[in-house]
Amino acid sequence: MLKIRSLDAYYGEFQVLYDVELDVSPGEVVVVVGANGAGKTSLINALSGTIDREGEVWFDQRNISTVPAHEIAATGLVQVPEGRRLFPFLSVMENLELGAYPAHARASADDTKRRVFDLMPRLRERVDQLAGSLSGGEQQLCAIGRALMSQPRVLMLDEPTLGLAPIMVSMVFELIDEIRASGTTILLVEQNVNRSLELADRGYVLEGGRVVLEGTGAELLANDRLKAAYLGG
Ligand code: ATP
Repeated sequence: MLKIRSLDAYYGEFQVLYDVELDVSPGEVVVVVGANGAGKTSLINALSGTIDREGEVWFDQRNISTVPAHEIAATGLVQVPEGRRLFPFLSVMENLELGAYPAHARASADDTKRRVFDLMPRLRERVDQLAGSLSGGEQQLCAIGRALMSQPRVLMLDEPTLGLAPIMVSMVFELIDEIRASGTTILLVEQNVNRSLELADRGYVLEGGRVVLEGTGAELLANDRLKAAYLGG
């Protein structure tokens, strides 16, 4: 569904990704793990077209590597950014409705909203609350809900559990599992190596902007190099 070949990415002259090759099949959760600064966020930003990139990004049968950032979401490749980026002075409902801006999503926004509330009953209870007054975990749910409103075929989540209380971390991981079960493919970037690899079908390890390991979630969890680097041996 998503096929990335020879992907390089840059902030100006500064190269942050080198020759990244990565595949995501329909219905999978694929996780990208790595230390701070490894290039995880840059990978998602390169796929979204918000930073300079070179190489091939195939989404279905289409090479989207030159599609501008403002047109990427309408292709069905949708990002939930790190830090959520909600509109704090708009209500939960208004934030969700803003997600339904692509034409195909607008037509069925009411149905999608029901699906989002079924997945996240906590959001239904808070529809009229200002997004900025939600807890960190609830804001993350709202950001995921807003992305789902645009009816993504691949949802890209950038560190969705960062800074959340343990109970909300569990809730977000359960939600990701339910989103996959409902038929949306997921590319997840996480610093929570253990939990994300337990959930993932497959994973990739980034170091210094390069893919250094890949395998099924179970293979990576059993890998000595990964255990030593991220799981305390
Ligand atoms: P983190 O978990 O800390 O977000 P990450 O794996 O997502 O880490 P990136 O944020 O992609 O890593 O950063 C990769 C490299 O790019 C780092 O060396 C970082 O300093 C650099 N970088 C990130 N953003 C910028 C920017 N706006 N301008 C210049 N360099 C940047």
